[in-house]
Amino acid sequence: MIVVMQRDSTQAHLEGVKGRIEGHGLKAQVSEGVERTVVGVLGQTYRELKDELELLPGVSEVVLISKPYKLSSREFKPEDTIVKVGDISIGGDEVVVMAGPCAVESEKQMLTTAWEVKKAGAHILRGGAFKPRSSPYSFRGMGVQGLQLLAKAREETGLPVITEVMSTEDVGMVAQYADILQIGSRNAQNFNLLDAVGKVRKPVMVKRGFAASYEEWLLAAEYVLSGGNSQVILCERGIRTFETATRFTLDLAAIPMIKNLSHLPIISDPSHSTGKTNLVPPMVLASVAAGAHGLIVEVHPDPATAMCDGAQALTFEIFNQTMGQLNDVAAALGRGRVKVAV
Ligand code: PEP
Ligand code: MN
Repeated sequence: MIVVMQRDSTQAHLEGVKGRIEGHGLKAQVSEGVERTVVGVLGQTYRELKDELELLPGVSEVVLISKPYKLSSREFKPEDTIVKVGDISIGGDEVVVMAGPCAVESEKQMLTTAWEVKKAGAHILRGGAFKPRSSPYSFRGMGVQGLQLLAKAREETGLPVITEVMSTEDVGMVAQYADILQIGSRNAQNFNLLDAVGKVRKPVMVKRGFAASYEEWLLAAEYVLSGGNSQVILCERGIRTFETATRFTLDLAAIPMIKNLSHLPIISDPSHSTGKTNLVPPMVLASVAAGAHGLIVEVHPDPATAMCDGAQALTFEIFNQTMGQLNDVAAALGRGRVKVAV
């Protein structure tokens, strides 16, 4: 349930409402919107509580939220959430592009890629230091050395970095290096990890579990939000279907659907969803046309020798061309151009 405060309510009214909620052993989470201030009531609520809270001074109404996810729902927060990373805004009109290799492999690979994606107009650098691999014999990432190389690439190019955190114990360390923490598809229901990133005060991108419904995905985001971290980005990265020609199936309808259900920014990953280089550019364009707030794309200096996911990586040349086309689609939709001068 959410408590909607009156427009002219005071701080004392708000404290009174929070106190009453907490007095019942429940959690109160305040969201100060442009239009109104609302207080989310988290925990096992009950019908009589609605009447009780509605009588408190400063309260306009108490609304029951039918969905199991509360803080991530549009009902809780009607206006779009904008996640800020430095001066980059994710969740607004501008299409924000995150690009880089699947995995950090070497200093040369990381720095070359960082400069090239920046030149092509990318806003944020990606690179995995901790890699979830289906086989324990595959390359599992450079670990902390990889984080250091990401930090070096940020220092040189000015691009903020996004990287995956796989375990609860690593959250503090990864948060020291990353500008955005990524929760991978395979960890999208690792509830302890979601709790842990909820305590961090840095943006978190929650990828969709490849077998997760919208509800399960939004509940994953709810873990992070209910931990007190409001800077959550969602990422559609494809789901498992009966089709085997593509790696996963990119669920494009998720983009407008999630925008209906939630106020959180939604970006698209055309790389992991298709698994094939030639399918990535058209899915980049389709994602923007469907309304994605941004993209995360794998780019490698030499996909043929990539230590991870080479088959879906774009070369610098194809990435650059794709960014040009992306600009045209964004412009046709009246959205900001992404190409930046270096
Ligand atoms: C990734 O982005 O590096 C990744 C492993 O993606 P996913 O979790 O979506 O498979
Ligand atoms: Mn990858």
